[in-house]
Formats: sequence, C-alpha cells, structure tokens
Amino acid sequence: MNGVGSAGRPLRVAVVGAGPAGFYTLGHLFRCPDLHLEVDLFERLPAPFGLVRYGVAPDHPKDKSVARVFERIAGDARLRFFGNVEYGRDLVLDDLQAHYHQVVFATGAQQERALDVPGESLTGSHSAAAFVAWYNGHPDYAQCRFDLGVRDVAVVGAGNVALDVARLLCRTPAELEQTDIAAHALEALRQSRVRNVYLLARRGPAQAAFTPREIRELGELPGAQVSALREDLLLDPAVPGDADSDAARNVACVQGYANAAPRGDGRRVTLRFFVSPTALLGSAGKVTGVRLARNAPRVNPDGSVQVTSTDAQETLPAGLVFRAVGYRGEPLAGVPFDRQRGTIENQRGRVTDAGKVLAGLYTAGWIKRGPSGVIGTNKTCARDTVECMLEDLSLARHLQPASPDPRAMDDLIAARVAGVVRYEDWRAIDAAEVRAGEAVGRPRVKFTDVAAMLAVLGRDPGGRAN
Ligand code: NAP
Repeated sequence: MNGVGSAGRPLRVAVVGAGPAGFYTLGHLFRCPDLHLEVDLFERLPAPFGLVRYGVAPDHPKDKSVARVFERIAGDARLRFFGNVEYGRDLVLDDLQAHYHQVVFATGAQQERALDVPGESLTGSHSAAAFVAWYNGHPDYAQCRFDLGVRDVAVVGAGNVALDVARLLCRTPAELEQTDIAAHALEALRQSRVRNVYLLARRGPAQAAFTPREIRELGELPGAQVSALREDLLLDPAVPGDADSDAARNVACVQGYANAAPRGDGRRVTLRFFVSPTALLGSAGKVTGVRLARNAPRVNPDGSVQVTSTDAQETLPAGLVFRAVGYRGEPLAGVPFDRQRGTIENQRGRVTDAGKVLAGLYTAGWIKRGPSGVIGTNKTCARDTVECMLEDLSLARHLQPASPDPRAMDDLIAARVAGVVRYEDWRAIDAAEVRAGEAVGRPRVKFTDVAAMLAVLGRDPGGRAN
C-alpha cells in the first residue's frame, strides 16, 4: 500500500484540544494496526489534560488518575504536543487544512449557562464553571474573587457539578490541604465563613442528574451534615421501578438525609427539590437572597417528569449564588456550529455544514455531543469518531494538504508562537509543581498563570512571536 497511511505517506492528523476526548482519540488511533501516523496535538494552555486538570474536583484524586493513561499515550513517538498554541488565534482552519489529512476538534465545553432570571448579574452571583476553574487553578480564572465571608450560599442545579461545589465549600482546611486545589482557593476556603449551603433542584431526587456515588459522598463529609425536606420528597410522582437504578439509589440516599436527626454545629447542606429560582434578590448591587417558586410535577406518557412553577413562593437568604446548570460549547473559527445544542455540527463525529459532510474534519467529546457523562464516556465517543476517520481514510475521503511535511508546521508555529510548550517542557512544569507540593506536604502546587509556567522553562512570557 502506498496510499495515505502507508509507511511512505503517513496519515497526518491534527487534534485540537488535549483533554480527555483528544487523548482518547489518540489512544484509539495509535492502536490501529498497520496504520502509519504522524499526529500533532494542539492545546491552548501550556498544560495538557483539560477537564482532568481543570474540571475534576481536587478531592477526587482517583478520577484524576486517568492522567496516567494520557501520559502513556503522550509518550508515543508518533505524537508531537504543541501547548500554549490557540486555535483561532495562532492557527486557523486554512493552516490545518494545508498540513494534515484529518483534523479532530476536541475542545470541550467551557462556557457557563445562564438561568435567565432577574438579578443574575448582581455581585455574588457566579457560574459554577468559574468557581470550579478557579479552585482548580485554571489560568483564565485565577483572578476571580468569591466572597466566602458570607453565611449562606445557594447552588442551583442537581448535577455532579452542583455537588462538587457544595462539597468543596464544606471540606475542612485539613481535607483540602491533602489535595491539589489551587493555593489561592485553599487560602480563601480556609478563611471561609460559609455555614449553610442550599442545593436547589427544580425536579425531584428521582430525576436528579447527580450520581449515587456523589450524593452519598456528600453525607460522608466530616465537617458538614446533609438534610432534605420531607415535604419536598412527598411531591415526587415517579417512584423508580428498578431498585438498582441510579434514580432509585439517589432517592434512597436523599430519603436517608431527610430522616436523619440533626447533629453537631458544623456546616449544613440542605437539599431542596421542586423549586426554581425566579429572581436573585440584592441590596447595594450585591446578592442577598433567592426568590423561589415551588414547582408542581407532571408525569408525561413516556414516564419522564416535567415541572411547572406554581404561585407558591419563598425566599432563601444567600450571599453567594452559583449556577450549576450545565456547560455550553463555544464556536470555533471556521467550523460549523449548532448554536441550539452548543456543539460543532456533526454526524457521529464527522463535521457537517447544513447536513453535508466536510471531508477530513472531525470532532470528539463535549464539543461533539454536549456536556454529558463521566470522563470515560469520552472514550466511546472518541472511538466512534476514529471509526469514521478510518472508514473515510479507506475511501480516500480526506484533505489533500499542500504542506504535509512535519517540519512545515514546526516552522509555522515557531514564526507565530514565542512560548510554545512541547511535551518535555510540560514534564518540567509538572515536576516543578510536584516539587513545590513536596515542600509543603501537598500532592502538587499548581501554577495558575501561563507566565509562571513559561518561567520554569526559562522562557520569556512575552506572548506571540509576531
Ligand atoms: P448536568 O449533569 O447536566 O446537570 C445540570 C443540572 O442543572 C440538572 O439537574 C438540571 O436539571 C439543572 N438545570 C438545568 N437548567 C436549569 C434551570 N434553568 N434551572 C434549574 N436547574 C436547571 O450538568 P453538570 O452538573 O454541569 O455536569 C456536566 C457533566 O459532567 C455531567 O455529565 C456530570 O455527570 C459530569 N460530572 C461528573 C462528575 C463526577 O463523575 N464526579 C463531576 C462533575 C461533573 P434538569 O434535569 O431538570 O434539567
């Protein structure tokens, strides 16, 4: 064979985004027998691993251990990592089309979603996305400020991100010190005066998006007690049939919280169900509370449960409000985007434009299917995309790059980006973080700005090359 993918003409692939979806795509590609490959992985930040580094909660080290799988993939000689290189700024679609046979966009879904209620722009009203990125040391969020001097906090949403936020607010300093939480967040949470955290779900525990392990874990916090209101739970119209289902286990866990006797004077997490914020209330520009409408559930013929707001209202005190109502993907320059879904327009991972497949362009992960599932879900998602890539390759449906020589991309990057971070550079940054952690008895101390990461490499953070 002397076609693309043979020893004489390796398949050249660009992957944009070094998070789980990007790495799983590489893993599937590298396992293809008899396929000769040259892959370049582009990442906007100097650090790889995306959501594993900047999204997974710091007190979930087991979930972060998948980074070791990604490290093995990164060690493959067929891969070149280009960190601190941003698609849309340093590279555009024309560049990728000129250098690769196939391009995979795996840029995730970083953007917050709004509640669209009055008062949402008051000081003290934040997206959980920003809080999560801040406590994980994401360079774009290091300057954020959250007033943890308040007593009451409301977290809107009933997904795992809402639970992450509630849990992190209730961890003791001693627990947080054992994690790789950003130093600025550790310090702020040490000084925290938060006593009450309300988790506000618009439907019932049987319809919650959180998973049994995470809701159970909330009840195991040494520094906080979890409770739920029995009258909320009585509203639940749909008793899950299968006792082993996630929904049934969630319901049983929440019922346990509703029946638990109050103990101690630690922090308190109160789970509320069948309530929707109708307004954030404020004084002098700062949020002071949440007005809630009670919701009435309705079971659809297919068994799904919808809610409608009733006239019954109540007000909760809250000096901080976090919206944890899901994420949205961001459009990428030149790539067709489905605004309604917040994803790249695609069929099974093949990028489409008004339904027509664009040869050689693919997508994987949250930017392909929306923000759902756990980290491992991206493995199956990436496998589907790689299957499409291989199928198309076998039919010679790929791009025809004018400059397929890897050195041409080196030259282009060198001309445009002063501080490009290669994988061995990342390993030096990683080692410096771990060393800083060892000095203070923590797993690592993360660099939270790009300049500090580049300084480890003795590079001038002076920005772009042109
Ligand atoms: P999610 O799982 O989609 O949950 C979003 C929650 O927000 C749902 O409870 C949803 O309620 C609610 N919501 C949406 N719009 C709302 C509105 N206007 N008003 C009130 N509530 C609203 O999203 P996520 O929590 O951001 O998590 C994203 C993904 O990451 C999920 O797949 C999650 O499992 C995963 N994740 C996993 C872990 C882990 O494994 N430990 C940790 C973090 C995140 P409805 O159901 O009524 O729409």
